[in-house]
Amino acid sequence: MSGQIPIVEDEPAIRQMLQFTLSAEGFDCQEAGSADEAAGALAAQVPDLILLDWMLPGVSGPDYARRLKRDPRTQGVPIIMLTAKDTEADKVRGLDSGAEDYVTKPFSTQELLARVRGVLRRSTPAGGGQTMEAAGLRLDPATHRVTARGVSLNLSPTEFRLLHFFISHPERVFTRNQLLEQVWGDRVYIEERTVDVHTRRLRKVLAEHGFDHLIQTVRSVGYRFSAQ
Ligand code: CA
Repeated sequence: MSGQIPIVEDEPAIRQMLQFTLSAEGFDCQEAGSADEAAGALAAQVPDLILLDWMLPGVSGPDYARRLKRDPRTQGVPIIMLTAKDTEADKVRGLDSGAEDYVTKPFSTQELLARVRGVLRRSTPAGGGQTMEAAGLRLDPATHRVTARGVSLNLSPTEFRLLHFFISHPERVFTRNQLLEQVWGDRVYIEERTVDVHTRRLRKVLAEHGFDHLIQTVRSVGYRFSAQ
């Protein structure tokens, strides 16, 4: 899988272990030792998922999670809380703060990866179930798989949603603003250049299989998906 995942954790050893594990799976991770450091990564781009330690210097994980869920820019980003506390009450508090899931330290890397995949799968809307195909590119909303002439593509949840929208609306030109509304939905404060960043990444993956020509830039308007 791929996707952007900031790791907000003040213990360097755990942070590096997470970075190593997730990078090996294809995720793009930014390390942050505090909420302040995380702000830099979050300002640069809205990530696909946030790993958040329960005990951080300055602000607790649950408080920081609540802050992220109040911010229109980050409220749609799922959070997995990392906690050393395994009492029932603490788990409930973690989930009450808006976190989608939690893992209790010490955790196995396999467990963590399973949680990450599960949360990413749930955060990407399944959409209307029909498999769509264009010029040898196949997208299956039910399984979240995209293949190019039978070869699987490695897309982040956002890139998947973007491609899903494009392939469902071929031959039409969409402005960046329309794409923001349709693909990012209620995350209304995202800048238009976010669309360019994700479109560029999507094209890069498609280019590896010779399919980047399907997404065309329409000068001074926006983008169009065309299989012709
Ligand atoms: Ca900590």
